[in-house]
Amino acid sequence: MKTPERQTKIIATIGPATESEEMLESLISEGVDVMRLNMAHASHEWIREITERIRRIGEKVKREPAILMDVKGPEIRTGYLQSPVQLKRGDLIDLVFTAQPEPPRIEKVWQVEVNYDKLHEHLKPGNNVLLDNGLIPLLVVEISPKKIRCRVLQDAELKSRRHVNLPGIKTGLPSITEKDRLDTLVGIECEHDFFALSFTRDADAIDLFKSFLKDNNSNAQVIAKIEDQQGVNNLEEIVTASDGLMIARGDLGIECPFEELPIIQRKAVSICLSRGKPVIVATHLLESMIESPVPTRAEISDVANAINEEADCVMLSGETTTGLYPIECVRMLKRISSRIERELPPVLSESLRLFRPKAKMLRSAALLALRMENAAVLVFTRSGDLAAKLGALRPNGAPLFAFTDIPGLHRRLRLIWGIEPFLMEFSKDPEQTIQEAIKRLIEEERVETGDQIVTVTNVLADGKVVESIQLREVDV
Ligand code: PEP
Repeated sequence: MKTPERQTKIIATIGPATESEEMLESLISEGVDVMRLNMAHASHEWIREITERIRRIGEKVKREPAILMDVKGPEIRTGYLQSPVQLKRGDLIDLVFTAQPEPPRIEKVWQVEVNYDKLHEHLKPGNNVLLDNGLIPLLVVEISPKKIRCRVLQDAELKSRRHVNLPGIKTGLPSITEKDRLDTLVGIECEHDFFALSFTRDADAIDLFKSFLKDNNSNAQVIAKIEDQQGVNNLEEIVTASDGLMIARGDLGIECPFEELPIIQRKAVSICLSRGKPVIVATHLLESMIESPVPTRAEISDVANAINEEADCVMLSGETTTGLYPIECVRMLKRISSRIERELPPVLSESLRLFRPKAKMLRSAALLALRMENAAVLVFTRSGDLAAKLGALRPNGAPLFAFTDIPGLHRRLRLIWGIEPFLMEFSKDPEQTIQEAIKRLIEEERVETGDQIVTVTNVLADGKVVESIQLREVDV
């Protein structure tokens, strides 16, 4: 039995560096599991085109990646600028709510637009406002309903449409904006597999988003992106309400004291593992590879840390949207994960809580596979739950095959640690379904004569359906 090359999954964000047919084909062939489309930068026309391209190439190379639309949620940004502004330490800026394409400097005070006209209700003098992912720190000095006067604390260049962060401050922004709704409708039309909701602050945001999907007949899954202190405070309820979690370290490292970041990451991964929900470690994993063909030693250790913590996925952003070495980044993640996973002990996660009897049987099946030589686990799933739980048990080293007859679910299962998904029609006779699955595994050279397959499946006994754990030896 071939041991899996790696069990940690890879997400790549698609952008100008990777949108061509050739690059997409290389990414898929290299093993990218999920393609992320970031709505901060994408037009609807591009979304339709790129979705069609990804799906077509996935079918051609017989490895269909899932597609995740990242909706922006309640994000504050500065306005469009025709040209960058050079700010000096000590300068005064008025944050205003009307468009300022060429920020005038009225009586030596810059006028910079922000897209949230209630900002003045949430700030007070002495608060910090951070522009451009924390690169431009401002101190609030004076507030009125029309403007927020701030002092620039560091020399910096302000470019168009930069992120605005308000560390530790609760805003009244809606969890889902009008833009999010319009973007999501396009994602639904394109049958995207996942939607990631930026700046998820509580379970209500997820519930609201899920109802929007349901009202529009979508069964896509919802990934909560935690990016601020409120999201961290409500981590447990957010994980319970969502189908998975993204630790969006870019914003999180600005909104929370950055030395908290490793602690938040460790805690978030562990909560997800105990609930059987997939978890994604995102942002800056190989940041230096945007410009360099090799990562820094610190980045290698950071990726290794995510793998040691047993996150389901590691995610590339700028590395694959605009970076010079997108394919090398994917190869690098594979190389690090396959090596580090070999160091993980072959034991099951103790923390996963399993409730359904069939799910409890999974633990025994996975343990059996780990205790035997050349053994894989095989499950059949229609809701995806059994495969999600199997992955969450983290049977390190054992191949995990999940068969489904639900189109789309076979893509969604790509997000889950270790799971190798297959789409196949199920027969009414459980035995025939097992035979067909094993035949497919042989055809795709996943198993060979003498390999053992541990399967949790239904059998008919005296006309009744009973659950069973079975051990099948492959005989080609
Ligand atoms: C992040 O902040 O880490 C992140 C993934 O969010 P964004 O959508 O802003 O890239």
